Amino acid sequence: MTETVAIGSYKDHERAALDAAFAPLHLDHVGALADLPQDVRESVRAVAYKGHRPFGAAEMDLLPALGIIANYGVGFDAIDVAAARARGVAVTNTPDVLNDDVADLAIAMWLMQVRETEHASRWVREGQWKARGEYRLNRQASGKRAGILGLGRIGREIAGRLQGFKMDIHYHARSEKETPGWTYHADPVALAAAVDVMFVALVGGSATAGYVSREVIEALGPEGVLVNISRGTTVDEAAMLDALETGRLGGAALDVFLNEPDIDPRFFAIPSVVIQPHQGSGSAETRAAMAALQRENVAAFLAGLALPTPV
Ligand code: NAP
Repeated sequence: MTETVAIGSYKDHERAALDAAFAPLHLDHVGALADLPQDVRESVRAVAYKGHRPFGAAEMDLLPALGIIANYGVGFDAIDVAAARARGVAVTNTPDVLNDDVADLAIAMWLMQVRETEHASRWVREGQWKARGEYRLNRQASGKRAGILGLGRIGREIAGRLQGFKMDIHYHARSEKETPGWTYHADPVALAAAVDVMFVALVGGSATAGYVSREVIEALGPEGVLVNISRGTTVDEAAMLDALETGRLGGAALDVFLNEPDIDPRFFAIPSVVIQPHQGSGSAETRAAMAALQRENVAAFLAGLALPTPV
């Protein structure tokens, strides 16, 4: 009987590796668990989970023998960890292997926003360079003040890269950290007021919902840029859209949104926004490492060994 269920849209090679290791049952989404026959549900001990749909107590209760939910991704906000703990279900994620990719994309998005590379590229492709001449002047990126909201694994990688851009680095986290001299702000509004660009690298979930509040956005101001690679939930999206549309926020570069992929169409009409399709960890190399770490967690659980990366 099936011990493992793989939930989500795995690439063919990831699916083949899962099949070779565990011969799992594949489901497109977590909602499909309810359609499984009872004897199948009762045999499931491990779930390899890939997705952003909520995996809560009701879904866990469909699998009475469940012992692990191995998440594909470092962000596990879709999984109700408290409900899992209450049922003795371990949750694992895939930290660190994706830090470089996500930090690289954050830097790329910031440069795209301030140097207007997307608009400038269109200027060339549409024949404007030839017809109308030089592209308009934009803003300098290097040598400014950068804020990191959430100085965790990814936040530190972003800050490290920003040092190469001669940035004056500020940060906010719930506690002051050991840093090479970066300026700590106990309050996110004070951080936003002190910087030209703010990178959001918080965890998602209910505890950080709306952490980038209307006040934080107003403090960043008409010259400020907000870069978000965390989760759409961490920003008050309605306040951000209002501020962008009225010029009270200078610009934004966003990889994550509420209601992905059906994002608010207001974003499409705002030229100061750089939009990415939640692809922070989306290189072939990093996704392979994430998939491998997820499989290592499932394998360790089934073998009764210590889990490599529990949350
Ligand atoms: P991490 O090392 O756990 O760092 C998370 C940061 O969030 C820490 O600075 C932590 O602050 C802060 N934080 C946690 N709970 C908080 C709370 N209740 N209030 C305020 N701050 C809180 O996580 P990571 O590995 O850097 O990943 C960060 C997030 O990036 C992930 O959770 C995920 O959502 C997102 N992500 C996005 C992509 C993408 O494709 N765009 C890819 C990977 C990850 P303290 O230091 O005070 O604890």
